[in-house]
Formats: sequence, C-alpha cells, structure tokens
Amino acid sequence: MTENELTIGDSGERPKNFLEEIIEADIKAGKHGGKVLTRFPPEPNGYLHIGHAKSICLNFGLAQKYGGKTNLRFDDTNPVKEDVEYVNSIKEDIRWLGFEWANEFYASDYFEQLYEWAEELIKKGLAYVDDQTQEEIRKNRGTVTQPGKESPWRNRSVEENLDLFRRMRAGEFNDGEKVLRAKIDMAHPNMLMRDPIMYRIIHAEHHRTGNKWCIYPMYDYAHGQSDSIEKITHSICTLEFDVHRPLYDWFIEKLGIFPSKQYEFARLNLSYTVMSKRKLLELVQQKIVMGWDDPRMPTISGLRRRGYTPESIRYFADKVGVAKRDNVIDLSLLEFCVREDLNKRAERRMAVLNPLKVVITNYPEGQVEELEAVNNPEDESAGKRKVPFSREIYIERDDFMENPPKKFFRLAPGKEVRLRYAYFIKCDEVIKDENGEIVELRCSYDPASRGGQSPDGRKVKGTLHWVSATHAVKAEIRLFDRLFSSPDPNNVPEGQDWKVNINPDSLKVIEGYVEPALKDVKHLDKFQFERLGYFCVDYDSTPDHLVFNRTVTLKDTWAKIAGK
Ligand code: ATP
Ligand code: MG
Repeated sequence: MTENELTIGDSGERPKNFLEEIIEADIKAGKHGGKVLTRFPPEPNGYLHIGHAKSICLNFGLAQKYGGKTNLRFDDTNPVKEDVEYVNSIKEDIRWLGFEWANEFYASDYFEQLYEWAEELIKKGLAYVDDQTQEEIRKNRGTVTQPGKESPWRNRSVEENLDLFRRMRAGEFNDGEKVLRAKIDMAHPNMLMRDPIMYRIIHAEHHRTGNKWCIYPMYDYAHGQSDSIEKITHSICTLEFDVHRPLYDWFIEKLGIFPSKQYEFARLNLSYTVMSKRKLLELVQQKIVMGWDDPRMPTISGLRRRGYTPESIRYFADKVGVAKRDNVIDLSLLEFCVREDLNKRAERRMAVLNPLKVVITNYPEGQVEELEAVNNPEDESAGKRKVPFSREIYIERDDFMENPPKKFFRLAPGKEVRLRYAYFIKCDEVIKDENGEIVELRCSYDPASRGGQSPDGRKVKGTLHWVSATHAVKAEIRLFDRLFSSPDPNNVPEGQDWKVNINPDSLKVIEGYVEPALKDVKHLDKFQFERLGYFCVDYDSTPDHLVFNRTVTLKDTWAKIAGK
C-alpha cells in the first residue's frame, strides 16, 4: 500500500503535492508574472481513459487552484493513427468531467512554425539531413555503455542540408529515404540526445492538414515548442518522459523561445486494468467489448455508461494524489469513490434480481396498498414515493433457506422477517415442483406491523426488499465483473497473447423485476437498488425494455484493504 492510498477517509486539508510546491514557489518568485498556464495534450488516436482523467484533473485542477488557465492541445503529429471521431470524444469527455479549456489548439497548427524553426537550426549548424535507413540509425546509436557512431552525412554543409530539407518537404523523396536530425552528441550519456530525429517522411493524409505535408515532426521536436508557442508555464507529463527533458530544454534554448518547463509525475496504474490505447483499440476492433464505451472499459465513456459520476472520478483523482514513483492503485479505490458519491445522491428503489414468488395467504385478494418509501435516507430533500403492495410479491431467492444455518436472519420455514416499508411476514409453507425445486412460499402477514413497525415489541432481525408481483416491471440487468481476471493483466507469460488474462465471465445478463416507479427512467439515471448495489440506466434501455447496468455492489472491499 502506498502512502497516498492511506489518505482515504481523511478529513481536512491534505499536504501539498510537489507540483503545488513548485508552482507556489514560482508564483512567489514572480516567474512569468505569477501566471500559471497548463495544457492537456492528448493524441487523438483513441478514447480517453481513467489515466487521462487523472492527468486532466491535475492539469485543470492546478490551474484552477492558482488562478490560471488550461489549454486543450491535440497532439496530432502522426497522421496514420489519428481521427476526428477521437477529437470529438475527447472534448465530450473533458467537458463531462467538469472542465473547460481556455483554448483549443492542434499541434498541426504549428507545422509551419516548427518547419521554420527547423530551418533555423539547420542554418545554425544544429541539424542535418541523414540518408541512413531507420535500421542503420538504430544500430549506430550505440548502447547505454557504448557511444554511438556518427552518420556519414553528419557534416553536410548548411546549404546542402537546407536544399535537401526543402526537397523533403516538397515531396521529392519516399517514406524512410531521409530524416532530419538534431546535431547534438553521438556520445551523449542520454541516448535520446544522440542526434535525435526531428522529422520523418510520411506520405499520408492528415485529418486536419490533408496532403499539405509529407514530413511530420517527431514528438520530441513538436511537444516542447508547442508548449513554448502557447507560453505554457508548467508542462506536466508522466514519469517516462523525464529522460526527454534535456532534449525538451535543448530545443527551447537553441531557438531562444519562451522557456516552458516540463515536470513529471507517476502515471496512474490500476489493478485489473489495461490502459494502453493500442490494447483498448484491439478489444474494440475484435469485438471483445461492445465498443469504446463498454461499461467494462476503463475509458471515461465506459465509466460514464457504467454509472460513474464526474464527481466520483475527480474525487478518485484527488485521493490517488501525485506521486513521483510508479505504483499500482487498487481498483477497489475507484469503486469506493463512486459508492461514496452515489450513496449521497442516488435515490433508492427496490428490485429483485433472482425472484422467488411469495403469496401472502391472509392478505385480501385484489387489495392494493400504496406504501410510503423514503427515496434517500442520506438526503431528506429527495422526498418519498409510493410503492404498491399486494397479495403476491417477489423476494430474492437468496433470502430464503429451507434449512438455514444458525445465523441466518432472513426467511425460513416458521421464521418471521420484515418486508421493507411494508409488513412482517412469516413463512408457513414451501411449495415445490415435481423436481423438488422451490417455486413458491406461502406466508402470512401481521396487519398490525404496517410500515415495518413492530406492533408489540417483538423483534425481527431480517429486513428484505421485495416487489409486488402484479405491479413489478421486467428489466434486463447487466452484471459486470472485472474485464481481466489477473490483477496485473499486462504481465503475460512469454510467447502468449496479452489477452490471455481476459475474464470470460465479465458480463452476466439476467432478467429481474423492478418496482413500477422505475418505468419512466432516462438514460444514465442512477439508483441504489436496496441491498443490491448501484445501478444505472443503459443507453439500450427503452420504455418497453428497461436495461440497467450494475455500477458497483454495496460491499466495500476497499475499506477492508485500507484497514478502515
Ligand atoms: P498511449 O501510450 O496508450 O497511447 P498516451 O500516454 O500516449 O497513451 P496521450 O494521448 O499521449 O496518451 O496522453 C495525453 C496525456 O495524458 C499525456 O500528458 C499523458 O502523460 C497523460 N496520460 C496518459 N496516460 C496516463 C496515465 N495512465 N496516468 C496519468 N496520465 C496519463
Ligand atoms: Mg502519447
């Protein structure tokens, strides 16, 4: 367990994280006139996931806290994998999380400026066109212990480099024939500083610039300068980019442009979850899930469809904190966060997922009572509703045992329980079919226990949820489990497909009964089904065919782990 995880349940102010300390020191020193401008830079090559949510909350959250702003910048420098579908979903997800960007920018808007700066570096003798193949470049880069070998093209004249680079842009060469490289140091201890590639030739249509370009900047050449163009003060990225920082600074320094600075934090890893966009795309393309927004996906759209609220995700991001070392957060912490939020906000309803019919023999035939039920004990303003009660009801099959063990406080032959908001009932008779399967219970009720109150002080331990059989509405209920059965699904035995860890039983579809008040629900409405968990109306739901997704059960496994 990490120290971050232990802050769950803490009240009061949490200690400042290291990014807040850096920003406060910068403001105090009057750096950039005390201004704070961050950015969120997704590559539009997939849907955003919970790891991105962490980064969004951090970038937007820091700016908000210090009176600054945040840009949304699409890092669209690779024409082959990017698409407008992704651009639109990314914008929708950020807004849904509750954030609004100051400006919407695209790295591709900077292609012309980046190109001019590349010419400037060539003129300064700091960049050259290399004719080596990808393979040769890789081989000649050396190793961590051995210096690299200089390219035979490294000492071309400025004129020749300019001419070749312009012809690269003009489309005179094929993919892979030439690259532009920064001229730094082939013996540099940091491998990324050994004459990194700035531009490669890709003859492909770009989703925004069309066929205007056939040379595209590499991440390292585009990112820092894009930050600088926008005057980003604090460029926050994940830990694996710390080795890129010297290069980030090198380009900015050699070009003498706005000195944006990069800071790294540990990326979010979640147990039982894969977050690589490549892998998520594979799950979608191979139809292993229903789509990017499948409720089992760790995508923001999947979490939304599952029943997560923006508040619960922001709460989670805050609880996870900002670490400088990589760690894995337990999935149950995310579940804890949505439970906490929905407990306060979701109205209660009754539903029976695995029905067993109960006939209350002494209840008048044809009589219906409208009983009062509390919508949310955590929120008085949610009010009350009426729940119909009649002679025939359904209870949960698990709530009855013919031969119960000692501590079973639910229904059993001769035992009495309370029906929530209704009456005490006692089981008189068990009806079975020819196979010995229990098909019905005959019970009697105590009319004096209306509303679930004990009429004479006699104690009844168990309280069951129920629905009236004549009034209940059928509903499809989707019970989700973890998509992966291994806590570390990225850890796959050599030679095996990464998908070996997929849980074959991650979706169970059942038919249950819900109380009639649920007839008029809207997509994404959220409820607590009493004693069962939190459920959310799926996009597939129609008035004639209700569909509910189980967001999370009521059982908190997190509290146990955290030792609460
Ligand atoms: P992938 O490698 O799967 O394509 P990515 O990290 O390249 O993912 P980007 O679209 O480039 O995805 O990410 C946008 C921003 O979100 C980056 O600043 C990145 O650091 C951040 N980010 C991505 N994944 C995580 C994560 N798991 N935890 C925290 N931040 C993340
Ligand atoms: Mg990336």
